[in-house]
Amino acid sequence: MLISLIVPCYNEEGSLPILYEALCNVRKADDSDRSYEFIFVNDGSRDKTSQIIKELAANDKSVKYVFFSRNFGKEAAMYAGMQKAKGDYIAILDADMQDPPSLIPEMIKSLDSDECDIVAARRVTRKGEPKIRSFFARCFYKLINRMCDVEIADGARDFRLMRREVVDAILSVNERQRFSKGIFAWVGFRTKWIEHENVERVAGETKWSFWKLFKYAIDGIVAFTTAPLRIATYLGFFFAFAGFAYMLYYFIRAIIGQFWTNANIMGYPSLLCFILFIGGLILMALGLIGEYIGRIYIEAKARPIYITSEESKD
Ligand code: UDP
Ligand code: MG
Repeated sequence: MLISLIVPCYNEEGSLPILYEALCNVRKADDSDRSYEFIFVNDGSRDKTSQIIKELAANDKSVKYVFFSRNFGKEAAMYAGMQKAKGDYIAILDADMQDPPSLIPEMIKSLDSDECDIVAARRVTRKGEPKIRSFFARCFYKLINRMCDVEIADGARDFRLMRREVVDAILSVNERQRFSKGIFAWVGFRTKWIEHENVERVAGETKWSFWKLFKYAIDGIVAFTTAPLRIATYLGFFFAFAGFAYMLYYFIRAIIGQFWTNANIMGYPSLLCFILFIGGLILMALGLIGEYIGRIYIEAKARPIYITSEESKD
């Protein structure tokens, strides 16, 4: 039985040696006849990550690697790793030790006992993270779960151990704009959650700026639900109805109009506000439609999810 551990790496020269040691400890501690393979996906790092991975591969046969020709993002790196993985159980974990490798034996046990098909980690605290980031993250999960059919767990990390069938299902979802948190939930299967405290990264710094996360959130919503498109429809109905009511009101007023003789002069500011407001809503609706059309365009081009520059032999 083979266990594949996939590690997406982007500028992780500081953390890789520490992570590798931790992975070796997991392997050493396992006294069954299981074997392990470590798959490092170098996502176009600009530091010494690639040299370090090659050195590891030269000294350890179970180290495999894929190098990307440029930075394609963690989603692409996870996809490449899963394509390369040959294991019966497959895990994905971050290079920075924020996904504690010490949880892996426990995860393996859960799969062995056949109580589930996926064991996923969820952090229950967001200690050490900026407060506004946690706040927006919470809002995002509330919003997306209200709009989508699939349940995306708050605090769920990409860290998980999966059976072969689950990974095959994930690979069969070959859309280009990947939102893995959604895809993991979408493919289904029995999931067991293990909870852990937030761990700070051992070296280097996070690659996620606030804006990157914001865009990622929008990607997630657009990728998993068309509900926002309905906003335009609802608003349209609402304003058409309001307009009609307003028309009726003026019609009746015109018939018994003698009471408001100077009413025609007023109303310039309200008119302007209304035009601006409606104009804004129309633009917003157009923008929303544009988001979806843009995505159709990118999917229609069907470019590969990543380009490899170098790969270890099997
Ligand atoms: N990562 C990647 N490509 C990227 C950004 C990140 O492969 O473009 C990897 C990174 O090396 C790490 C994991 O994804 O192993 C998580 O990244 P990070 O720690 O920056 O994210 P955070 O833990 O802050 O969410
Ligand atoms: Mg991290």
